[in-house]
Amino acid sequence: MYNQFQPPPTLRENTAPPMPPGTSRRTFLQAGAGLLAGGATASFLPASGRAQEASASQDSAPPRGRRRILLRGGVVLTLDPQVGDFPRADVLIEDGLIRAIQPTIAVGPETAVVDATNMIVLPGFVDTHHHGYQGLLRNVLPNGILADYFRDIVNTLTPAYQPDDVYAGILVSALGAIESGITTVVDLSQVCHTPAHADACIRGLQDAGIRAVYAYSRGAGPASPHPHDLGRLKQQFVASDQGLLTLALQAGITNTDDWRLARELGVPIVEHVVGTAGPANEVILALARAGQLGPDVEFIHCTGLSADAWRAIADHGVHVSLAVPIEMQMRHGMPPIQQALDLGIRPSLSSDVDTNMAQDPFTLMRATFTLQRLLLNERALRGEENLPPLLTVRDVLGMAIREGARAAHLDHKVGSLTPGKAADIVLLRADRLNVWPLNNAPGAVVTLMDTSHVDTVFIAGVVRKWRGRLVDVDEAHVRHLVGAARDAVMQRAGYQTNVVG
Ligand SMILES: [Zn+2]
Repeated sequence: MYNQFQPPPTLRENTAPPMPPGTSRRTFLQAGAGLLAGGATASFLPASGRAQEASASQDSAPPRGRRRILLRGGVVLTLDPQVGDFPRADVLIEDGLIRAIQPTIAVGPETAVVDATNMIVLPGFVDTHHHGYQGLLRNVLPNGILADYFRDIVNTLTPAYQPDDVYAGILVSALGAIESGITTVVDLSQVCHTPAHADACIRGLQDAGIRAVYAYSRGAGPASPHPHDLGRLKQQFVASDQGLLTLALQAGITNTDDWRLARELGVPIVEHVVGTAGPANEVILALARAGQLGPDVEFIHCTGLSADAWRAIADHGVHVSLAVPIEMQMRHGMPPIQQALDLGIRPSLSSDVDTNMAQDPFTLMRATFTLQRLLLNERALRGEENLPPLLTVRDVLGMAIREGARAAHLDHKVGSLTPGKAADIVLLRADRLNVWPLNNAPGAVVTLMDTSHVDTVFIAGVVRKWRGRLVDVDEAHVRHLVGAARDAVMQRAGYQTNVVG
């Protein structure tokens, strides 16, 4: 049995051991305290370790509203070849931007100092394709494939959403993303039944405080104003390039009106392309001939495409987003990691639907890393020679961050720790006993870590997660909001779930 309101592990550990016979609770706890303090009894915590724990606990308050913040003494992976990486360095944040990265930066008392000892400091992850409104529907289809998804999610549950439900779903998805170390998301919530639904999408993203590309997507029913409501959204919500929100359009791959409108409004295009499910190859070649493909386009999945279609994608600089675990789970076809790499395309990674799989970047990175290597290893074992290189952990980290920023058209702002860029930064704990000792930081992130290691998250220099908990989020309120919206959608749709599976 699991109860989410269990006391924290430290309390459970102190109360869990059974008392030896004849020992009072008080004397037993005193004996335990002596053990932890390293008294006469042997301690598992050396003196230097105790000193580090003490220093880490000193900055216990999140640095809210501080103009200057110094992240002190972390292992810094900048993902910027010009800046390089540092086994130990300080990162200075000023007015929401990265100001400097140096082995040591002296600061005065006006600067908030964050102890990053035993942390890996790196740019925030970028998820280039997620349907946030489905946060209400997490795990509705853990065993489902595409046919089940269209029946249950697209045709049954999505039409039952009202704007408040959209808001709750997007909010919990975006907060969950921040929990997982994702600081930028490309959101394609295909639920814009009315303009109020689209407004709810944007408010959910904004209230969560995540950096987002809101890819305006169509809804169900005759009142859906897609794509023409995009002009209003741009005017109303994206007055300048300075905020956390930018727009894109989920444009039907054969809908020339959609493509024309996106170009008129100067917003990028995002769309799913699944060659195993329709005539995607012919459509891509026709788009290429019509001069429509370009670097303002992101194609998702790209499974089942012909060599010609891939060549067109590569030649026109189209961005590619792979949702590897979902593609494997839901029968989109083989994730085309190698097809992309062979043409010099570095794909970005995306989580797609929470109905079926986790949204966290560690799951995406490990699935991509192991699948590409599996396929090449099999070829090697069959005796094939002159194979392309195996993906490295650095390659995969780059896909989850730097290539994500490029696909989201935000690489001038995020995607690396570069002085002048926005301070979208995550701190990952390397001192947990399932990671320590740290021998290879990119390896630890890609092959050892998970969301439990995401200690602290900054977005544009604002602390959003601090020492393992979201900042300024009333979690009980969000849980209530989301639970009520889930119940309302299920009831309207006449849909039943079974919590014990
Ligand atoms: Zn999708």
